Amino acid sequence: MNTQRKSKKADRQVKINQDLLAAVQIPLPWQQNQWHLLVQAHIQNNLPHALLLLGPMGLGKKLFAQAFTQYLLCEQSSQQQHFCGSCTSCRLLQAGHHPNVMMVTATHADMIQVDEIRSLTEFMQRSAYLPGYRIVLIHPAQNMNLASANALLKSLEEPSENVLLILIADEIGRLPLTILSRCIKVNFSSPEPNQAVNWLGERMQFARQEIEVALKQSAGAPFAAVHWLQGSFPELRQQFMRHLLSVDTNKDVTGIEKWLQISTEQLLSLWQQVVLDLLTIVQVKPVTALINSDFNSELVLFSQKCKLSALWQFHDLLNVAVAQIKSGVPVNIRLLLEKCFIEWRRVVIEV
Ligand SMILES: [Zn+2]
Repeated sequence: MNTQRKSKKADRQVKINQDLLAAVQIPLPWQQNQWHLLVQAHIQNNLPHALLLLGPMGLGKKLFAQAFTQYLLCEQSSQQQHFCGSCTSCRLLQAGHHPNVMMVTATHADMIQVDEIRSLTEFMQRSAYLPGYRIVLIHPAQNMNLASANALLKSLEEPSENVLLILIADEIGRLPLTILSRCIKVNFSSPEPNQAVNWLGERMQFARQEIEVALKQSAGAPFAAVHWLQGSFPELRQQFMRHLLSVDTNKDVTGIEKWLQISTEQLLSLWQQVVLDLLTIVQVKPVTALINSDFNSELVLFSQKCKLSALWQFHDLLNVAVAQIKSGVPVNIRLLLEKCFIEWRRVVIEV
């Protein structure tokens, strides 16, 4: 039975990926303003030499940067506000072989090394193979280490003619001020919840409520929600929610092993959301939009057994635990979770 469920999930994932690839049109609906702003700047010959596309992960900023690159190099774009998709330049870009474009990219766990930035700066100093801009993209820019950032600085201070640098970043706090101050920032933010739900609903075979939950778990970022839905976390979340909400009847306290499989940050974040939902129910009646709306009735039922003061105390305890994890100081996760589970039992009024 397990195998059957797994294969169904795998099929669904393939479908999602194909749908998304086929149906995504850039700029995405929540990127229209940024697109028009940059296109106008280009038309008026006001485009700066360095752009920093900034905003939370999962909004499609890299897709936007690639599309804008294609627009700038398209042989037909002077006639319109978009690339044509069929000229030589567009075809070269779509095949990933345009000689005027270079991109350095890294996974979110890897750093961008100084050698990679040196290759970029050499590329920027060379003369162009084809007419028009030479464009370099760095993603995610916050993954440059100090040496990489310093190597890039010279290009930012003394830009070569007809060169555009596009930096894409999720976390402004990790970028050196020297880099920040030399780029024009273009901010991206999450779409309105309804717009995001509708957009994903048209492209994915998930129920509306599943999409709503995924978006709430992903700070409203559509591609982060897709990633969330495709992972194993939704199922583990359901189990964890049920475990939390049965604490008064479930005498089994040996369940910690299972929760150690989930990243502690993710687990505590989910727990914080459950507490926020319960506080909302207890204090703000009637309940409007819970984060875990798929557990609406279970949360309402559980809230009737909660002590408000104990719930606030637990809220503070979780905040301290999250700060501990984020501080980077080594923490005994098992002890931390055991303490949280013991305190969680105290949230429920004893009968
Ligand atoms: Zn074209």
